[in-house]
Amino acid sequence: MPVTAESVPLPQRPAPSGRTASPAGKAMLKLGLVRDIDLALHLPLRYEDETRITPIARTREGDHVQVEGVVQRAQVELQPRRQLVVRLHDGSGELTLRFIHFYAAQQKILAPGARVRVRGEVRGGFFGREMVHPVFRPVEPGTPLATSLTPVYPASAQLPQAYLRKAVVSALGRAPLNELLPPQVLPASLPTLRQALDFLHHPPPDVSMATLEDHSHPAWQRLKFEELLAQQLSQLQAQRERAKLRAPALPAREGGLRQQLLGQLPFGLTNAQERVVAEIAADLALSQPMHRLLQGDVGSGKTVVAALAAAVAMDAGWQCALMAPTEILAEQHFRKLVQWLEPLGVGIAWLTGSRKGKARQQMVERVASGEAQLIVGTHAVIQQDVHFARLGLAIVDEQHRFGVAQRLELRKKLAHEALEPHLLMMSATPIPRTLAMTYYADLDVSTIDELPPGRSPIVTKVFADGRREEVIARIADEVANGRQAYWVLPLIEESETLDLRNATEAHAELQAALPGVKVGLLHGRMPAAEKAAVMAEFSAGHMGLLVATTVIEVGVDVPNASLMVIEHAERFGLSQLHQLRGRVGRGAVASVCVLLYTGPLSQTGKSRLRAMAETTDGFEIARRDLEIRGPGEFMGARQSGDALLRFADLLQDTALLERARRVAPKLLDSYPEAAQAHVARWLGSKAEFLKA
Ligand code: ADP
Ligand code: MG
Repeated sequence: MPVTAESVPLPQRPAPSGRTASPAGKAMLKLGLVRDIDLALHLPLRYEDETRITPIARTREGDHVQVEGVVQRAQVELQPRRQLVVRLHDGSGELTLRFIHFYAAQQKILAPGARVRVRGEVRGGFFGREMVHPVFRPVEPGTPLATSLTPVYPASAQLPQAYLRKAVVSALGRAPLNELLPPQVLPASLPTLRQALDFLHHPPPDVSMATLEDHSHPAWQRLKFEELLAQQLSQLQAQRERAKLRAPALPAREGGLRQQLLGQLPFGLTNAQERVVAEIAADLALSQPMHRLLQGDVGSGKTVVAALAAAVAMDAGWQCALMAPTEILAEQHFRKLVQWLEPLGVGIAWLTGSRKGKARQQMVERVASGEAQLIVGTHAVIQQDVHFARLGLAIVDEQHRFGVAQRLELRKKLAHEALEPHLLMMSATPIPRTLAMTYYADLDVSTIDELPPGRSPIVTKVFADGRREEVIARIADEVANGRQAYWVLPLIEESETLDLRNATEAHAELQAALPGVKVGLLHGRMPAAEKAAVMAEFSAGHMGLLVATTVIEVGVDVPNASLMVIEHAERFGLSQLHQLRGRVGRGAVASVCVLLYTGPLSQTGKSRLRAMAETTDGFEIARRDLEIRGPGEFMGARQSGDALLRFADLLQDTALLERARRVAPKLLDSYPEAAQAHVARWLGSKAEFLKA
């Protein structure tokens, strides 16, 4: 297939070892273009049309065209600045070519009498049509035109387009692109992979550009389906590998700890809570490790579900570890669990980084001996240096995904080498369905889709910082009515670099603006005891306003608080704003959340805050967050980097995704070799990691 007439040396295939002499070869390695298939999948960013020549007289201003003509005149002009000005003639008309930057070699090519092919945008200049810095090359009369569009690839300075084009052509020739998939798994009327790739690298001139640009062309569909299928297959393999592992079976006991705990609670479970508790208990009863994500909006009551799961595990004679990302959250859990479970005779240990010395040593020993049945602490501490006598269940709060490495660490904690603990992850950032289907294909998901009764709705308002006085007046009103308010700021650690007002300053300002109101301050650098004292005063209702950095994000439950002001709201992630907002509306009073922003806001910034004002549904917020940020950022680069999709789009390609998900098990069962080959083709060495 002719691609370009430009003569460049035929590239050598880069050595897989990474030892290759040419800078272009090295640049290819850097772009991950190692195997032939990698190059075959290195798709053009866009295309150039070198398949036709437009007579100069028929070009119009703004057209991107290729013309061919003979140089009539070429001279370096000095006014208004030094430039090379070339007059080109093709029999139909004249075109001026201007070069502000040019080399002697180029000047030589553009000598009078030379025949050149020129590509660029036509502009209407003072002296008629012209092109500034067009692409050009000398040609013989009658030089054939390209028969397909010319690909323009993602490249780098060391990797010229012409080199890359040749490399792709030869890789396409060599790459084993034989059809691996049986026809019944493929969506109807899609080209083969080879056809799709040949097409996308070198589309015919009459192709509909729109279908290439929006990726709706069947060639694109084929590619996206292949990619999604590879991902589903590898996740399914991982799931089946995990199913071979063994965990202690923890059947719930009639009249056991779980029922006693239920009997003690001051409330009844919601239907949603009952359902997820049953789903978890069914998993725990099996001798195959649970791998489940429990998702539910802020305030949906995940903690009590965790406690009930822990009760089942402890009843069966095993230990349970509950891990939280921060000390404040761990402490909150600890207090709740002590209140619920200690009266039932459960031994609970508390482990965080700030707990040191003898007290800590004693705790660690109680865990190792099995005397402590339930261990609450931060992820870091529990993972670092605690050994369990009989860990049967690990619960991880507020983390999307417990990584492979962390799971392997946890496995080591079990005294019984052949057994793996059950794993329950809890998250208040619900994962939209399409995302769950790809990134969590190996995970079971339970969802609490109902809030406990008696919650009042929160009204969210978005104000520019210029209206802060109004907002402060509103605080005064709330406090006068016996209510309380929060004023939240971005983290104090960041304030120096980001030039944000720090919490101390804001505290002083607000105290001055609100005479007669007790204003407290809470930030991450305060000693734990001081934090606890401030929190206690606020909880008891002795403090009207609490100024705080995001330490309160996951910390507090004060039903009398009815107003939340978030300063520099534009600095926070949507999910974080949602979490913060969840601190009000916990009682029966109508609550308000004010998002103060400091302008000017970008378009994205505006749509983010608007999303917050428009909905209080955590699922909807997560969906919009995903839409605004894209899956990579939404999931956090580290968590998703291994699985990011290159071609498929989770928001658009739902139908392809569902099909891939449906056919993956069939393919794995009926054509295991084809499935294996397909995964290897697409994921290469990454596949092994995904399985871990
Ligand atoms: P989250 O899902 O955000 O972790 P929590 O577990 O902290 O939510 O629960 C929020 C509040 O709701 C807590 O005070 C908790 O005791 C209470 N709660 C949980 N379940 C119920 C229920 N079924 N009825 C009433 N209150 C409940
Ligand atoms: Mg929680």
